[in-house]
Amino acid sequence: MPVITRFAPSPTGLLHLGHAHSALAAWGAARRVGGRFLLRIEDIDGTRCRPEFTAAILEDLAWLGLDWDGDVRVQSVHMPEYRAALARLSARGLLYPCFCTRAEIAREIAAAGQAPHGPDGPLYPGTCRRLAPEIRAARIAAAEPYALRLDMAAALALAPADLSFEEVGEGRLRCDPAQFGDAVLARKEVPASYHLCVTHDDALQGVTLVTRGVDLKPATHLHRLLQVLMGWPEPRYAHHPLLTDASGRRLAKRDGAPSLRALRERGLSPAEVRTLAGFAAP
Ligand code: GLU
Repeated sequence: MPVITRFAPSPTGLLHLGHAHSALAAWGAARRVGGRFLLRIEDIDGTRCRPEFTAAILEDLAWLGLDWDGDVRVQSVHMPEYRAALARLSARGLLYPCFCTRAEIAREIAAAGQAPHGPDGPLYPGTCRRLAPEIRAARIAAAEPYALRLDMAAALALAPADLSFEEVGEGRLRCDPAQFGDAVLARKEVPASYHLCVTHDDALQGVTLVTRGVDLKPATHLHRLLQVLMGWPEPRYAHHPLLTDASGRRLAKRDGAPSLRALRERGLSPAEVRTLAGFAAP
């Protein structure tokens, strides 16, 4: 099977060395074996993404010496496709509208004393899952804003009990999607979630090897479940360690990690930046 990888940044800021590491990992994994490398802009969250950062990503990656195959897929122009995927899940009774605000959920969790924590935060206590159909219909008719949540128990009932994913170098790892609880797959401000869009696009674009930071490894448990529910093919996964600074802290924009642009303005060459990003030669 040909290797097809991708780098899928969200344009919420300028790329830093951690992104360069991720991009070079994906690019190298494809190029070493004559495979394809795709670039996808994950800008579905209009509250955080900005077009000028998309332009900067393309420019910085090209400066770094990366080339990609085919057109860049920009998620925000494909909303109807994600809506169609949501409609398919909804038609099978796997989604339900959730009218709770974040504050209401926090109150409910506080009243319950505690809630298990998942990779995306505290697990939703399931309040709106128990709403009667006529109450749901009335609240939707009254134009109350709502999110769409995956009914995890219903979804798990449709998946094999031994659901797993293949991690390169580790073999098959058992999935535990229940750790996400009733995950949000759409909300008013972000009409399709990262989890839905990323699995949709990896399937659509024929990605066979997903390379990304180990911080996203837990998300793979949910992604495998969505793949099974939607009948999408299963890629292999290679989660790479995160690049850290001299003191061992993970590089992040909020901690002042220098952007690729800043390094370039300081006079560093693409080869020097690739070395700093952990890849001596392209
Ligand atoms: N868009 C995601 C991010 O920038 C990465 C998606 C992925 O590689 O699965 O964190």
